[in-house]
Amino acid sequence: MWKSEFVEPESPLSPNALGDLSNPILPVFKATNFVNVKDYSAIEPSVRLASHLLKHPSLRPMLRTILKHGTMIPLREKESSGNSLYRYPDDSANEMTDDDIAYIDLALDELAGFVTFEAMEEHGPADARTQIIIKRKSKRDHRTETLDGHRSRVEYSLELLERLEKASRPSSSKQDKPLLLVWRFTLAVQLAHEVCHVLVNAKDGRLKRFHAEPFFHNALTAEVGFAMEETLFGGSPALLWPEEQPDDEQATRVHHKNAGKLSDLVGVFVFWPWPCTSIVRDYQAQNCALHMRRADMAALKPKDVAWRVTISDLARFFDTAFWAQENPDTIFDRSVGFAFTSDAEGVRSPAGFSKQELRDYALSAYKISKRKAIVEK
Ligand SMILES: [Zn+2]
Repeated sequence: MWKSEFVEPESPLSPNALGDLSNPILPVFKATNFVNVKDYSAIEPSVRLASHLLKHPSLRPMLRTILKHGTMIPLREKESSGNSLYRYPDDSANEMTDDDIAYIDLALDELAGFVTFEAMEEHGPADARTQIIIKRKSKRDHRTETLDGHRSRVEYSLELLERLEKASRPSSSKQDKPLLLVWRFTLAVQLAHEVCHVLVNAKDGRLKRFHAEPFFHNALTAEVGFAMEETLFGGSPALLWPEEQPDDEQATRVHHKNAGKLSDLVGVFVFWPWPCTSIVRDYQAQNCALHMRRADMAALKPKDVAWRVTISDLARFFDTAFWAQENPDTIFDRSVGFAFTSDAEGVRSPAGFSKQELRDYALSAYKISKRKAIVEK
């Protein structure tokens, strides 16, 4: 029953919930870069949203650091394999100039020649990753005004692509809006996340010392994609409980309504503030590149909080009027959240919070509800 506050009925979606994005698509997301997409219109809302996300003013400091950093600073701590780790110099005191913004925009345009996107069977709908392609070690294989590193291949989920193609096909009156909103948004965030890795590879991938992504100033993890998600949304968005079967006694039957019928979407959309202990442990158990300093690793919080995002909260991201604002507020609200613990492999189980723990997590504006959810005062 502890899940019940998460699964309270969603308010009905407006007829325009799927939005009206028509903004320019960044060249990096051009159709020919998606090697096995048959129907580009199925991913078009996602690439338009990903284009908006990458252009958001809040990401400029991060993108400028990647593109215009001076000499990187070696850390005292090394990788377990003995390779050095680096951090970017702190340039946050420098004013963001029009020249800086033009340079960032040019680099995002030039990135088009550095990547292909490939939908692959072995990735689940929540998984995407970037592989650096090194043909001749430390030789550049493409050079533009702003970039001269290595190309990348972004892998994402064929299942996700097929779900989107299927749900986009019927006439608009039959479209499954909750499903489309969640999976279009998920793909957009995945694409924006991976493009940040592509940018780092395209900028510095050929450097001899490039064994791991550099740390941003004061960042706990060296993972540019999650740094982007934290900056934009206040955490990493994800679907919770999407795989549970409705006939399982313990299952969370979290279906959503779609025009009076049940949606095919199963699960609750949440975001995890970064660094998320269970995600860090999952990455490290799978030996994926995600570097942390030992002291920070030891200081990881024992519990993670999943904050609920309603489906109607997602709808604003597909609305042209939202992006017409000077600095659209992309940070998710924190009203209902649940705590989870995780084992060494990052497998989560639900947990409560004691009053003391709530204070440790410095969520002073929140109290613990009867069902152990954290709810706003
Ligand atoms: Zn990543």
